[in-house]
Amino acid sequence: MSERQVNTGADRLVRATATDGGIRCMAAVTTNLVAEAARRHETSPTVAAALGRTLTGALLLGSGLKELDRLTVQIVCDGAVGGITAEANALGGVRGYARVPEADVPLNEDGKFDVRGVVGGGMFYVTHESGYDIGLYKEPYRGSVPIVSGEIAEDFAYYLAKSEQIPSAVQLGVLVRARDEGGEWFVEAAGGLMIQVMPGADDRTVAAIEDAIRRTPHVTTLVRAGAQPVDLLRTALGGIEFEVLEEREVGFACSCSYERAVSMISSIERGELELILREDKGAAMTCHFCNETYRLDEAALENILVGSGT
Ligand code: ZN
Repeated sequence: MSERQVNTGADRLVRATATDGGIRCMAAVTTNLVAEAARRHETSPTVAAALGRTLTGALLLGSGLKELDRLTVQIVCDGAVGGITAEANALGGVRGYARVPEADVPLNEDGKFDVRGVVGGGMFYVTHESGYDIGLYKEPYRGSVPIVSGEIAEDFAYYLAKSEQIPSAVQLGVLVRARDEGGEWFVEAAGGLMIQVMPGADDRTVAAIEDAIRRTPHVTTLVRAGAQPVDLLRTALGGIEFEVLEEREVGFACSCSYERAVSMISSIERGELELILREDKGAAMTCHFCNETYRLDEAALENILVGSGT
């Protein structure tokens, strides 16, 4: 967990393996971090579901990241949400945002929040980067597939199958519940699981897993009933033995800070900075990822100008 951890809820993730490495599987309970993202970005309930599924999927896909690695999932779409970005790090932190957090569409024909409707069509990108934060720049790896579903879990599965040649089962869910008649709502449960079939896994095992997943209740039903990540895996794997490689806390975490805001404003050209000081008497910067706003007052701007010389 990063020191920039914003939310210290009880969210957890497990990474496991089964059938002598033939199956890689991970599961997470993400109720708190999804609620935190929805609160920070003041999302509509439909966007809370779409963003929450993307954040959870990024954490699951990034669960094997090494120190200094990060993984970004970007949905570029023509639906009302306009796009969703989620970035997971190796410490179990994830951050993300929707381009139009207040976007909403009517409930779908099942009476559920219409994630597919708010996302629409477009492209699904996954970028792996390493060492970026300490200036060790390596060429990022980027894969992309068209959005095939818009429900997001299916898009993660399609990405894994097409771009990484890993047949996978993915479930992602966010359960949003009305608090009262007045339109107040909250995130009651969120989580997900990902089962990846490695090359060479035997067909009977794969068939057994497919069968178990078909019969497993939806992940939010289990989370709402108190299931932990390991319980999600046990249900999905339907009796197949698995070995937990790692269990960790996960949470919403952003790397922004007042110091970073100052350093970004310091890079503004001197003449323009003087104009901002004279006319606005201060500056404000809002982080896209977590919606935190940093305000620099007159004294802070004067400090930057003094520090920049001439
Ligand atoms: Zn931030």
